[in-house]
Amino acid sequence: MRKTSCIHRAVEDYANFSHRWCGFHWLSPYRSINESGHEVLCLDNFYTGHKRNIAQWLDNPYFELIRHDVTEPIRLEVDQIYHLACPASPVHYQYNPVKTIKTNVLGTMNMLGLAKRVKARFLLASTSEVYGDPEIHPQTEEYRGNVNTIGIRSCYDEGKRVAETLAFDYHRQNDVDIRVVRIFNTYGPRMLENDGRVVSNFIVQALRGQPLTIYGEGSQTRSFCYASDLVEGIMRLMNGDHKGPMNLGNPGEYTILELAQAVQQMVNPDAPLKFEPLPQDDPRRRKPDITKAQSWLGWEPTVPLMEGLKLTIEDFRRRIGEDAVQNGSVPAPRV
Ligand code: UDP
Repeated sequence: MRKTSCIHRAVEDYANFSHRWCGFHWLSPYRSINESGHEVLCLDNFYTGHKRNIAQWLDNPYFELIRHDVTEPIRLEVDQIYHLACPASPVHYQYNPVKTIKTNVLGTMNMLGLAKRVKARFLLASTSEVYGDPEIHPQTEEYRGNVNTIGIRSCYDEGKRVAETLAFDYHRQNDVDIRVVRIFNTYGPRMLENDGRVVSNFIVQALRGQPLTIYGEGSQTRSFCYASDLVEGIMRLMNGDHKGPMNLGNPGEYTILELAQAVQQMVNPDAPLKFEPLPQDDPRRRKPDITKAQSWLGWEPTVPLMEGLKLTIEDFRRRIGEDAVQNGSVPAPRV
C-alpha cells in the first residue's frame, strides 16, 4: 500500500525550500512519489509562493494539491505530515504578524490534531530563531535562547517556540510521533525575487545593477545552508528514530559584509554597497552546532557557499532575464 505524506504550507514557509521539494532535481518527497511509492498531498494557500513551482506535478496521479490554510482544520488520511507552514522571511512574516502567530499556534494545533487522529508521524519545521539573539556560540539544541517577547520578530520566534511546545505536549499527552527540526538560514534556486532575505536580495540587486543593501555595518554573521542539503537532512530526520529538536544548517559562518562582497565578485564587481539601518532585534551572530545531526542522522552539508551561490545566481539570472524579455526591457534573443 502506498504511504501518504501531507506537506503543507498553508501560509508558506521556506518558500525557497518548499519549492525545491517541488523542483525535483533534489531528493524530495515529491521525487519519492514515483520512486518509493509515496503519494503526496500538498496543502498551500499560496500566501508567499507560486503555483508555477509545482506545475510539473499537477498531472501526476500520486500528487494532489489542496488550496488550504492550516489555520483552518482539515480531515485527511495520511501517514506522515511535514508541517512547514509560515513565511520564514522577516519581510513576509512581519507583514501580517497576527497571521504569522496564528499559523504557528492554530496551524500547528490543527496539524497535531490531525496527526493524533490518524496516527501519522508529524514533523515540525522549527527554526534557529528560537535561539533569538544568541548568547552562546555556536548554538546547540540545549541552548534555551534569548528572545524578545514583544519585538517585531516575536510573532515568528515566539510562534515557533510555542509550536515546539505543542509538539512535545501532544507527544507526551497523546503519544503523537513527532520530529522537530530547527532550520538555520537556507537559500537556493527558485527563491522569490522579492523574498526579502539576504541571499536573494543581494543576488537580485547585483544582477539589476542596484546597490547591495547591507543592514548595519555588515558585521553580523549567518551560516547559509543550500536547500538540497537541508531537504536531505529533513528526510533523514522524518524517517529516522530521533524526535529532535535537531539543528540543521551549514556551520560555515560569514559576516553579511563578506556575503555581499562574494555576491559582488560573482555577479557584478561594479555594484555598489549601501549601508542601511539594522532592523530591531536582528541577531548578531548565528551558527549551528550540528553534532547531533552528524551522529544521529549521519548528515552534514555537502554544498559549500560559493558553489551554492553559483547555482542560485544562475537560476536568478535566467528568471530575471526572462522577466526582462517579457516586459520588453531587453530585446528577446534571436532564434
Ligand atoms: N540583511 C541585509 N540586507 C538585506 C537583507 C538582510 O544586510 O537586504 C541582513 C539582516 O539584517 C540579517 C541578515 O542579513 O542580519 C540575514 O537576514 P535574513 O532576512 O536573510 O534572515 P534572518 O537570519 O535575519 O532571519
